[in-house]
Amino acid sequence: MSRSAHPAGPRHADVLPEGHPSAPPADLNHLDRKVWASTVTRTPEGVVSVGGVEVTRLAEEFGTPAYFLDETDFRERARAWRTAFGSDADVFYAGKAFLSRAVVRWLHDEGLNLDVCSGGELTTALSAGMPADRIAFHGNNKSVEEIETAIRAGVGRIVLDSFQEIVRVSHIAQSLGKRQRVQIRITVGVEAHTHEFIATAHEDQKFGIPLAGGQAAEAVRRALQLDGLELVGIHSHIGSQIFDMSGFEVAAHRVVGLLKDIRDEHGVELPEIDLGGGLGIAYTSDDDPREPHEIAKALTEIVSRECEGAKLRTPRISVEPGRAIVGPTAFTLYEVGTIKPLDGLRTYVSVDGGMSDNIRTALYDAEYSVALVSRTSEAAPMLVRVVGKHCESGDIVVKDAFLPADLAPGDLIAVPATGAYCRSMASNYNHALRPPVVAVREGEARVIVRRETEEDLLRLDVG
Ligand SMILES: *Cc1c(COP(=O)(O)O)cnc(C)c1O
Repeated sequence: MSRSAHPAGPRHADVLPEGHPSAPPADLNHLDRKVWASTVTRTPEGVVSVGGVEVTRLAEEFGTPAYFLDETDFRERARAWRTAFGSDADVFYAGKAFLSRAVVRWLHDEGLNLDVCSGGELTTALSAGMPADRIAFHGNNKSVEEIETAIRAGVGRIVLDSFQEIVRVSHIAQSLGKRQRVQIRITVGVEAHTHEFIATAHEDQKFGIPLAGGQAAEAVRRALQLDGLELVGIHSHIGSQIFDMSGFEVAAHRVVGLLKDIRDEHGVELPEIDLGGGLGIAYTSDDDPREPHEIAKALTEIVSRECEGAKLRTPRISVEPGRAIVGPTAFTLYEVGTIKPLDGLRTYVSVDGGMSDNIRTALYDAEYSVALVSRTSEAAPMLVRVVGKHCESGDIVVKDAFLPADLAPGDLIAVPATGAYCRSMASNYNHALRPPVVAVREGEARVIVRRETEEDLLRLDVG
């Protein structure tokens, strides 16, 4: 369809609110490959399908709102990361992005390792058969019970995040008669080009031990003295939804600088360096993420070059992508409830979910796209804000987008790229029932996390 088929386009452009990112797309029925999972397509009848199953059928069988996860796409992305980094590096999927037992099994199949950051995530991983030595345990305030459970289980590494934790983990390991493999998480003073709340390597924050002022060096000194610890490496995670590799370049430079100082002071070359996660994905057509093989090439080159300069053996690299693996693989399917045009402003489209299934827009001002998926439409584009059903005016799912002007209650719309940090951050606000996650693959759909029920809510309410 050509742009001229939408005479309303320019008129809308005139009334776009200040700061609105772009004009309406040329064809609202078109699905931009960048933001949709790999098997998502529109059938000749105009209905969108994933894994060969039409969304109308999925809505009938599983209800809305619901997350539909393209298992083929997930496995392909996991494999692409694994292959890109090869056998000299490890890929740890960051479980906090989205974790379920099915996901753990897929990761296991595809040869990935797993990051967890709570006892709950650890239990999920172990219960689905992830070998403990392929699990890394993170967090700035792990409880004594969590540390004990992790050490007893035999996790491959614990990432130490504070001076107190260095002593605590050593003490617990010794009391269990073990020596725990650990890394120390440092902050390298890099401000990643991303939203402030998700940038984590500048120093004024709760994670890690600052390189500045010799604090990281002091942490290493202490860890090397403790019998309960086997210090194997240094960890740095600079933020999330990052597109620009220069932040990693600076981080690698500084981490290798520390490895060199450690070698000079203690005569020890630590064998591992972890550069964290944070690689960005496309939420809208304006985003241009990098491919895993480009990222792998860039990171390994940076580390080798820095180590050569410092005359160090190149350590084993690990990375921790969460969003970049699961984010693009799922979309949230909603049914349109009410439609409220506000003259000269925009049209509010209310759906049957909202901030309880996607808090990212309210929390980070995240941008999303949206499409009408139960049918095609030739109607003119209208500027919409997709909102939820919660008692909060900040309950926005998609801040600015275009949907066809003939949108009607009962239509199905889908928000792509909701695989990461949506179900995992879902809440029961307003006693909403958290939506299910349904994996779709080769014509078959199966629930991997079921929808919450009112009985679930009442079961917790024991007063
Ligand atoms: C959150 C987190 C990740 C994953 O971040 P993504 O942006 O999902 O890739 C990796 N490592 C650590 C330590 C994290 O906290």
